[in-house]
Amino acid sequence: MPVRGEQLERRVRRMDAELSRLERAATRAITGEIADASRRLEREIRGLYLDALADTRGEDVAVREARARSLLARVEGLTDLTADVPDGELDVLVTGAAEAGASAAEDEVALYEDEARSARPRNTALAAIATTAVAAIARNGRQHQERIERHVVDGLAAGRGWGQVRTDLRQEAGILQRSAERHVKSTSVDASDEGHKATFEANGVQYEQLLATMDERLCGYCANRAGRVYELGDIQLPLHDHDRCTTVPWKREWQEAGLTDDEWFEAHRAESLARAQEGQRTGASPSERRRGLDKAPEPVWTPRTDTVAAREAVERIPPTPAPPPVVRPARPRVTEKTRSRGPTRPPTEAERVAARREFQGEWVAGARRKRSVALKHGAQQELGIRGLVYQTRRFNFTQAEMGRARIAARKMYEDTQAAFRRQGVAEVRLYRGVKTAYEDVGVIESWTTDINVARKFAGARGDIIEEVIPVERILISHRSPGWRDGRFGAQSEYVVMPHRPRRQ
Ligand SMILES: [Zn+2]
Repeated sequence: MPVRGEQLERRVRRMDAELSRLERAATRAITGEIADASRRLEREIRGLYLDALADTRGEDVAVREARARSLLARVEGLTDLTADVPDGELDVLVTGAAEAGASAAEDEVALYEDEARSARPRNTALAAIATTAVAAIARNGRQHQERIERHVVDGLAAGRGWGQVRTDLRQEAGILQRSAERHVKSTSVDASDEGHKATFEANGVQYEQLLATMDERLCGYCANRAGRVYELGDIQLPLHDHDRCTTVPWKREWQEAGLTDDEWFEAHRAESLARAQEGQRTGASPSERRRGLDKAPEPVWTPRTDTVAAREAVERIPPTPAPPPVVRPARPRVTEKTRSRGPTRPPTEAERVAARREFQGEWVAGARRKRSVALKHGAQQELGIRGLVYQTRRFNFTQAEMGRARIAARKMYEDTQAAFRRQGVAEVRLYRGVKTAYEDVGVIESWTTDINVARKFAGARGDIIEEVIPVERILISHRSPGWRDGRFGAQSEYVVMPHRPRRQ
């Protein structure tokens, strides 16, 4: 009786849940520290900035810049938002993840053999992983320190108000928090892989088999290696940022004794290949390239994908909506080749309200529906927004439809901005759940103030992006005039653009 693939998978999932728990704790501590540092900086710099702004009114740019430099000298150290991030958090993460990896590996070996030995990775190896992570976060902090200081200098040189500079500073902090989270995740996978390998080694396991994480949008590197067997050490995880793949132990004698579930891995490989939207990528993975490798490692065994098990696995894949092709540069296809270039008279207020209602109602029903795609083009054309338009089909739009979409985009934006002004709101902390790291920035995207809604969109293995967004980048929100929730109910939704409109 072979060790069933499901049994291995269950152990891997259990380990992954433990890793996620550790990652959340570390991320919370680190991003919290960055948030504190950001608040501290704001507190210290605000008065200085306002004074400098008042003092240099009417002065030329060189004087303003010089003043900004001396201002920054007074808050030295505070502009590095990662200066106080404690190394201990990463030590705890690395130790915990390595243990989780080691004990999962022991359970996996125990499925094949009566006795599995427990082992721990060498402390030097774990210390190196933690050090790398600490250095990466610090390096990021310094990069953003430069950017933060530039915002202050440019702000004062241009005579910008404090509110605008503060928004810029908060954006830097937000980006820094996201990259810290990414480092935490990679570090945890790296450490658990180290724990895996130490245990495999202690048990005389010379090979490991790649178990891909079955995501709707599995990447080409992971798909290419799914189910393949490699010499121990040839594969180092993660293969790339946000990679959640893992390995399971493999021995030739297990396979010869019929203990390995080759059929399951045939199915696994076939399914992975079928799900990889970008096709196979056969070269060195991003993290391998960073380590200086220029080729992918050679597998010692590859599951067949021309078997019944493989074929059936592909047939079983539910017809999930394939990720839509990215159409770029996105220009709508307009059917009528008439010379009339849209409405010549300005729309009436009733028409503007009707357009807003029409496109808002469609948006909450689905961002890939025809009129939602039209709205994206409308925002591009009317507000000058750059970004990608995803579409599942090539829609044909009439001149009238495109005209209404532009009217709707303009009306949404005006009403929304007016409402923010009335409420005195300058920025909003928003979340967005994404399935993979490969997501590009769309012309308009749904974000939410409710982190649980974002979690639902991200799914079990996705990511949540958090950002403080200036209201000028919000097209419409659930708090805008006339907003109506759709069939998915209240989502605390904000429709966000990648930048402020270029066409006012
Ligand atoms: Zn991948």
